Amino acid sequence: MTGVPAYLDHAASTPMRPVALAAMTDAAAHLPANPSGAHRLAREARRAIDDARQVVADALGADLGEVVFTSGGTEADNLAVLGVHDRRGGVLVTSAVEHHAVLDPVLGRGGRVVRVQAGGTVDLDHLAATVDPDVTLVSVMLANNEVGTVQDLDAVAGVVRARAPGAALHTDAVQAAPWLDVASRAAGADLIAISAHKFGGPKGVGALVVRGAGSDLAARSSGGGQERERRHGTQNVAGIVALAAALEEAARERATAAERVGRLTDRLRAGLLAAVPDALDTAAAAPERLPGICHLVVPGVETEALLVLLEQAEVYASAAASCASGATEPSHVLAAMGLGRAERAGALRLSLGWSSTDAEVDHALEVIPAAVAQLRRRAGRTLGGAA
Ligand code: PLP
Repeated sequence: MTGVPAYLDHAASTPMRPVALAAMTDAAAHLPANPSGAHRLAREARRAIDDARQVVADALGADLGEVVFTSGGTEADNLAVLGVHDRRGGVLVTSAVEHHAVLDPVLGRGGRVVRVQAGGTVDLDHLAATVDPDVTLVSVMLANNEVGTVQDLDAVAGVVRARAPGAALHTDAVQAAPWLDVASRAAGADLIAISAHKFGGPKGVGALVVRGAGSDLAARSSGGGQERERRHGTQNVAGIVALAAALEEAARERATAAERVGRLTDRLRAGLLAAVPDALDTAAAAPERLPGICHLVVPGVETEALLVLLEQAEVYASAAASCASGATEPSHVLAAMGLGRAERAGALRLSLGWSSTDAEVDHALEVIPAAVAQLRRRAGRTLGGAA
């Protein structure tokens, strides 16, 4: 065995970038005041938040006053969807492959769900048939967290503007932010959600761009009037400063990182498809996918059993959809893409990030085919024994 632990779960959370860690520690040590206060130290904390706000605004193609800091991607998504619905009512629409942070609030308010094609891209004809003037918000993610499919948001925006000119368009850019130029890809969106821990910042801090048809959203909390009364509560100053440091570095390195990591992911995918008989490249039909995600379906293998074997050999991966208990839950994304129950049972997401190395890919290529073969032998013996 090559022996290098392989952390292949960056889409769940990527390690903090040293620059973000340093910025966070520094802010925690040197900015003690409440940013809402009136004295000099409070003003310093407030200035640090506004410097960070400018970084986020630049990275996302927004104005300073359009950036709202939140406690992460989930809160940003909830604020977008429910904040618009609380203010305007009407019908909410989303795609079948969204993260639960969008899908559940939409379904909870009786919203409509748009089909996707085999590669996971939104069916634009079905979107057009679903959106009418009663619709107040459409939410389509920029890139999917399980299989990595990238959506053509300009095309989505075109349909939404034609069918429901007053509706807000929200995009969950949580997975896209480390890899894509969100400013240009989401230029047609009124609401854009990001989360720091997906691009090398800390967990528990994120942001929502609020503009255009999304501007009048209602706050989901009440309190001290922070974030232009869109998100009340004392801001996480050190987390926000670290988010900005990570985002700035991620944006600066985006092109080279996407190319380097894209090559690693391609090598991993090609190697596994060659070495694991019958393995399927889940999102092969997608016109574009994120450089960091390799999603496979391995017939005849249960994901949970495979993950246990991989962990024993220090390959850390996931089935993509996990709940707070750490248990694997059935994937609504794979179901929406047309995969049957048996195929979904053998789902494996390997996700790479800014710190991924060739050695990790080598290790995964050594461990995963052997683990699959072991599980298939075991299943064969069980079947043989029963016959
Ligand atoms: N949206 C997507 C696409 C995600 O992948 C995630 C996290 O996995 C979230 C939203 C939620 O973000 P957070 O973990 O910051 O709450």
